[in-house]
Amino acid sequence: MSRLIIVSNRVAPISEGGMAAGGLAVGVYDALKETGGMWFGWSGEIAGAAAPELKIEERGPVTFATVPLTRRDYDQYYRGFSNDTLWPTFHYRTDLTHYDRHEFEGYQRVNAWLAHQLLPLLEPDDVIWVHDYHLIPFAEALRQQGVTNRIGFFLHIPFPAAQLLVTVPPHDKLMRALCCYDLVGVQTAPDLRALRDYLEHEAGGTVSDDGTARAYGRTLRIGSYPIGIYPDELASLAEAGRDGRHLKNLRQTMRERRLIVSVDRLDYSKGLVERFRAFEKLLELSPNHRAQVSFIQIAPPTRADIQSYQQIRLQLESESGRINGRFAEMDWTPIRYLHRQFERAVLASLFREAHVGYVTPLRDGMNLVAKEYVAAQNPHDPGVLVLSRFAGAAQELDGALIVNPVDVTGMAEALDRALDMPRDERRERYQRMMETLRRNSVSVWRDSFLSDLRAVPQ
Ligand code: ADP
Repeated sequence: MSRLIIVSNRVAPISEGGMAAGGLAVGVYDALKETGGMWFGWSGEIAGAAAPELKIEERGPVTFATVPLTRRDYDQYYRGFSNDTLWPTFHYRTDLTHYDRHEFEGYQRVNAWLAHQLLPLLEPDDVIWVHDYHLIPFAEALRQQGVTNRIGFFLHIPFPAAQLLVTVPPHDKLMRALCCYDLVGVQTAPDLRALRDYLEHEAGGTVSDDGTARAYGRTLRIGSYPIGIYPDELASLAEAGRDGRHLKNLRQTMRERRLIVSVDRLDYSKGLVERFRAFEKLLELSPNHRAQVSFIQIAPPTRADIQSYQQIRLQLESESGRINGRFAEMDWTPIRYLHRQFERAVLASLFREAHVGYVTPLRDGMNLVAKEYVAAQNPHDPGVLVLSRFAGAAQELDGALIVNPVDVTGMAEALDRALDMPRDERRERYQRMMETLRRNSVSVWRDSFLSDLRAVPQ
């Protein structure tokens, strides 16, 4: 089978044991090991004064090819256009979107430069799979340099409604570039509808029901491919970590109280403020839960050099302080807000310990935490997932209590229901969701995308 080339903004640090930080990295790394191949992208380093150099590292059948970025490239391509323009708009936060033409030019320049770095490493029948919003113009840049290989693109974040996308001034250039791929995958059916709507009504193209799209003089395929996890591996990880140090300490301080858990990057798309207020509303409306339930929010900071991220951090610190000040007792802190990273095994066992998984993003491409929470449960006595309807995962996880993350009272009612749900109902919901997770695992996601990409005529 032809060699696979994965391109992503960051090349995931894979340890010798093959385990990486998240589901995507593990799933993609598996595919690379099977067919042999290369993972190409930014090393995560900022280059000094010298010209940035490509670094190649071979590990078994997999080649890791990485490049550093200059400070200017980082500021314009990564921090600027990717994370201060595309990220907020694609997450429906046009109020936070900042646009600067120079940053967009930097975004295009870095994509062209990255494509140029990859070019000498390519072989004629390589299949190239590009990931996420940082790299929309990557195929266009390769095509301009004469590459005719099959190139696929997967968008991990939501595809926004056309009326939001057009608020990004160079939307037309972006979408023209997107159509240089042979296959474009999005997470869910609503994302696919939004992409189709743009192609038909803004780009004047056509999309047939089999996913063949014609726009800007190009023909490509579009489809939805919901990313998954390895549910059984996650379940084993959760079970194995049950009596670890962190969990023992937690149990001691909980003293039979019930536990609600949330784990996110500290991002304004995750609905953290509304989530804190809904927990406050629960304590207000249902005094029986006071001193009986604790809520742990784990949220390590990310993208801390962007102002909107500094603001959300301050806002959350103030909200957790206010709510704790209002309800705490000498021996009970309602919200424990932890600002740090944990090992996957610790998170998995924490999920298993929690009576409620509380996952309420305002918008999210998929949300793997929701899937991990379900997979980590004890099958005999599982917890309940409270899930935002605006997470991609809500399209699949119909055993969750689905909430609207701006409806603070509605979320408080869902928490109340989750905490009181009888065991039979919890088990029935859990089993339904586990079947879905097994059916749509990360290997199914990867294999179905790659088989569709390989089937595209070259
Ligand atoms: P996003 O991609 O927006 O961060 P997802 O929920 O899809 O959101 O994926 C997040 C991944 O990162 C999950 O696999 C989750 O377990 C992991 N993760 C989130 N927070 C932490 C943390 N504090 N420590 C370690 N891993 C985390």
